[in-house]
Amino acid sequence: MLDTAKAAEIIRAIAARMEAEKDFLTQLDNEIGDGDHGINLARGFKSVLEKLPELEGGDIGGLLKGTGMQLVSNVGGASGPLYGTAFMKAGNALKGKTEATAAEFAVAMEAAIGGIKMRGKSEEGEKTMLDALCPAYKALSEAIDGGDELKDALTKAIEAAAKGVEYTKTIIATKGRASYLGERSIGHQDPGATSSLYMLQEMEKCL
Ligand code: ADP
Ligand code: MG
Ligand code: MG
Repeated sequence: MLDTAKAAEIIRAIAARMEAEKDFLTQLDNEIGDGDHGINLARGFKSVLEKLPELEGGDIGGLLKGTGMQLVSNVGGASGPLYGTAFMKAGNALKGKTEATAAEFAVAMEAAIGGIKMRGKSEEGEKTMLDALCPAYKALSEAIDGGDELKDALTKAIEAAAKGVEYTKTIIATKGRASYLGERSIGHQDPGATSSLYMLQEMEKCL
């Protein structure tokens, strides 16, 4: 069962992971972008940490919404508005809830992905974070429909996301800065898909 305290623990774990992976994510972005993805996310989640004490006393929806708003207003790059929208949409889906079931988590994740697609005008297969998140959501919802607990469903989601990250190496970027490289983007792993995988891993570890 996911409650507000657990959700706050997950946000703290994600913030720590983004700080830990800052250099690696930035290095990935150096290859096909402008070399700031890790810096952007570490900065964004640092600002979320500052806001967290105010947010963790309420419901999960408010916590996620506040997280998203911090990301939107503190990250300059594409990933700030995209992840920010994702967290805000997830927050909206869990509005007023101090506990969420696995099925409700899946609904929130679906809303988050819908937010990214809308804001990014993007779809799966364009070498973005969606190539980790969409297969992860598919695996997660199938697992939950099959009766899995949230942690087990997330384990399956992570496997799917990791495959998605590998898949980004084989395709051409058609969205974001990496799209400027065209065919030269092939062979490189997408930074945003990678950071999405890390976020899912932190969720699973905390449950
Ligand atoms: P910027 O490209 O503005 O420097 P970041 O480096 O922080 O921003 O984030 C880059 C990541 O954002 C990419 O690796 C990709 O996964 C993701 N991204 C970029 N554009 C889009 C989009 N339109 N839809 C979904 N994800 C996107
Ligand atoms: Mg960048
Ligand atoms: Mg940038």
